[in-house]
Amino acid sequence: NKFLTITTNIEGQPQESMFEIKTQTLPPLENNDVLIKCLYISIDPYHLPDKPHEAPEFITNFCGSCIQNHPWNVELIDEVKLYICQAINGSGVGRVIASENDGYEKDDIVCGLLNWAEYTIVKNENTLRKLNTMEEFPLSYHLGIFGTSGLTAYGGFFHVCKPKKGEKVFVSAAAGSVGNLVGQYAKLLGCYVIGCAGTKQKVEMLKEKLGFDDAFNYKEKTDLNSTLRRYFPDGIDIYFDNVGGEMLEAAIANMNPFGRVAVCGVISHYTNSQKQVTPNMIDVIYKRIMIQGFLVSDFYTNDFKDFMPVTTDYVRSGKLCVLEDISHGIESIPSAFRGLFQGENLGKKIVQIAQE
Ligand code: NDP
Repeated sequence: NKFLTITTNIEGQPQESMFEIKTQTLPPLENNDVLIKCLYISIDPYHLPDKPHEAPEFITNFCGSCIQNHPWNVELIDEVKLYICQAINGSGVGRVIASENDGYEKDDIVCGLLNWAEYTIVKNENTLRKLNTMEEFPLSYHLGIFGTSGLTAYGGFFHVCKPKKGEKVFVSAAAGSVGNLVGQYAKLLGCYVIGCAGTKQKVEMLKEKLGFDDAFNYKEKTDLNSTLRRYFPDGIDIYFDNVGGEMLEAAIANMNPFGRVAVCGVISHYTNSQKQVTPNMIDVIYKRIMIQGFLVSDFYTNDFKDFMPVTTDYVRSGKLCVLEDISHGIESIPSAFRGLFQGENLGKKIVQIAQE
């Protein structure tokens, strides 16, 4: 079994040379084990969490199931954000190859917490769920639009931002996996939506393909505050923040009274802790701005059971456009992961490990 691991402490931008592919012989299955062949692996920025010591809990939450006795029996080295020499896990879709678990049988297709590897032995069935193979959508959608990215966008926008038709919405990392969906949900509700992204191609795509009212390349702007003032002459009602840093500062400065800021992610901090900023809190007070962080796991409740039917209908009817960026082969994972922090992905970044 080939699996990915890191060989060094990742500080700053991740590099491909920090990863290594190792080979192991899989042990025999024990009672309750499920052996899964990985088909698709989700590549996510959360592997560089801002608070490294909270990583196990964050990863546990990520899959939506409480992982008792989780298998990371590894020493957490100070300041190390991934586990050196251990398999890295994340969300994936795979096929059951062999099972010692009554709930799963050979050829079941599952989604859950898998290793960045060709095969994973899953010891805790609560980290898995079966997928319906008869459905019309590609399996990879369960890692993006029907998975964590979709639920993050849906719950973060509708629950945290409490949007109303006609409100003015700003989304950062708008061509990314979560951001593009936030913008699309906002347009479907009837909001005025502007996104920012890091390339001309992404900006064009947001306007031409996804129907954003406007978009700009933040890398070309020297003064973000006045840029936002130009794009939002009447102020911002909702800011969906995927990046933190100076963009958050500029957005706060342009918020309307009683505006809402959903803090989904702060990717500009993950590779550069100096990027942390303090928005003008006097603005926050006088304009009664609500700033709320959230975790996608907040939405693993019945209150969000409409997410799947609503999103499925939108996709089926072509109202929601699905953006996937798929690389192939386990060897492409390091470059896929590095690319997230350099803006190389367009939509949901996925690596296909094996043919279905
Ligand atoms: P994306 O698909 O958006 O990929 C990351 C994108 O971020 C890149 O494509 C790049 O686009 C942009 N980016 C990278 N570095 C920087 C930087 N220094 N400054 C500004 N933009 C940057 O990833 P996701 O959609 O998966 O995640 C988006 C955010 O949401 C992340 O911060 C992530 O941690 C967070 N998240 C939070 C969850 C939660 O539960 N709270 C759940 C899932 C995700 P560009 O070309 O625009 O620079």
